[in-house]
Amino acid sequence: MKIAVLKELASGERRVSASAETVKKFIALGATVAVEGGAGLQASVADADYAAAGATIGDRAATVKGAGIILGVQAPDAATLAGAAPGAIVAASFNPFGERAKVDGYAAAGLEALAMEFMPRITRAQSMDILSSQSNLAGYKAVLDAAAEYGRAFPMMMTAAGTVSAARAFIMGVGVAGLQAIATARRLGAQVSATDVRAATKEQIESLGAKAIFVEAVKGIEGEGTGGYATEMSDEYKAAQAELVSSHIAKQDIVITTALIPGRPAPRLISDAQIATMKPGSVIVDLAVEQGGNVEGAVAGEVVERHGVKIVGHRNVPSRLAADTSALFSRNLYNFLSAFWDKEKNAPVLDEEIGNAIRLTQGGKVVNERLL
Ligand code: NAD
Repeated sequence: MKIAVLKELASGERRVSASAETVKKFIALGATVAVEGGAGLQASVADADYAAAGATIGDRAATVKGAGIILGVQAPDAATLAGAAPGAIVAASFNPFGERAKVDGYAAAGLEALAMEFMPRITRAQSMDILSSQSNLAGYKAVLDAAAEYGRAFPMMMTAAGTVSAARAFIMGVGVAGLQAIATARRLGAQVSATDVRAATKEQIESLGAKAIFVEAVKGIEGEGTGGYATEMSDEYKAAQAELVSSHIAKQDIVITTALIPGRPAPRLISDAQIATMKPGSVIVDLAVEQGGNVEGAVAGEVVERHGVKIVGHRNVPSRLAADTSALFSRNLYNFLSAFWDKEKNAPVLDEEIGNAIRLTQGGKVVNERLL
């Protein structure tokens, strides 16, 4: 089985889908690995590192030629994969709801698209979950991005010249990214509070030493929510949440928003009128900006200023820490493929639960029930 590791084509994408470590491990499984020249450069992996791990290095056509498995961070258009083995598997993130035409292209090309972001949230798939590994580092980086834009310090500092007070940071949406944002803001010395719609997060917030700010008058989502995911909230809940946020946000220096709802635009959590109540010099980081944004006025790929408040909307935050996020993404892919590796076939054979969840196309058709 030949595995191809391609250079990413999406603009601004610095990550790579295999590390020298995972190349070595794939070879130990019985596969051969071909890497497109320069694929890892922006993630601090040189061609020589891949070659030392046992991969061959070549141009794109040579890398793809005859490959039965193609790895990517962001799946390229199927048209760039001509020459792959018939029915080849492509394991990558596909953004299936946002880029449906791309998925159709995979079906037309007879490729088997495996969307890693559709990995089910079950215990045995935790080590294969790219959303968790990438969100974790994005949550960390969001706080650093906020600190870089903030014209003040995070920790309280007592100096001979006087005291600098601690920054107040508010984290909205406490999934994987939000939990890491809480921990990072705490490590930097901020006074941290956080909110979510899922009741289970209250204890998690408090266990990290932050204050939980929750809507009490209207019921949110009991426990973890289905698979850890939130759903769209009722109008009554939204109104109560807006009121709660309005009174809290005016006292904050830093706000990090991470709220997402699968398959839907991100919920709007902060209005322009609420931003106007914040102190000038405050910073908001909208990690959901590419999914429609939690913050009114946030612009993907830009840092904008409204009412003296900076709104940070970096695209593809995981790519801003490409060496670490690539290493984790690569391990997610290896953990996934090796868990299903059939020694005799020298290929992965997926089981129903995970296969049906992540397979988008097979036999020339779109087969995933979330897309039908
Ligand atoms: P996510 O990226 O889908 O959403 C981020 C957070 O935003 C969630 O906590 C969500 O509840 C919250 N949110 C949505 N709408 C909101 C609103 N209107 N107001 C405030 N907050 C809102 O979530 P995620 O980070 O991928 O993970 C969520 C949960 O799933 C976590 O508890 C995590 O531990 C769990 N999880 C489990 C596995 C596994 O078992 N394999 C894998 C990944 C995540």
